[in-house]
Amino acid sequence: MKKVLVVEDNQDNLKLISYALKRAGYELVSATCGEDGLELAQAEPLDLILMDINLPGIDGLETTRRIRDSEIDGRLPIIAITSFAMVGDRERILAAGCNGYIEKPIDPLAIVDQIHSIIERWDHENTDRR
Ligand code: MN
Repeated sequence: MKKVLVVEDNQDNLKLISYALKRAGYELVSATCGEDGLELAQAEPLDLILMDINLPGIDGLETTRRIRDSEIDGRLPIIAITSFAMVGDRERILAAGCNGYIEKPIDPLAIVDQIHSIIERWDHENTDRR
């Protein structure tokens, strides 16, 4: 079973995401702040991380940077969840080490497809560069 870490401080969003991912067969671990998310990411092997950007304490971008600077496998997909995709945000999110992002509001019927297409596109672009 694939294991996903969701870092999200909003309980309603966390519930929606959990519902959708569990229904799609994912095993789920969650954290409500970046520090706890980083700790969980280091504690066990994961297949995916969903990272809210607006978090109490260190934000999702900084948490992603710390994960990318750590010993954690750099191929682990990290997908940002953001409510403020404005000009420049895409670049900031990708520069921090995320593979892509999903915009709020979360659509529980679409989120799993969104995740898969981000991972597929990233895999594809990565393969082209070799
Ligand atoms: Mn938040």
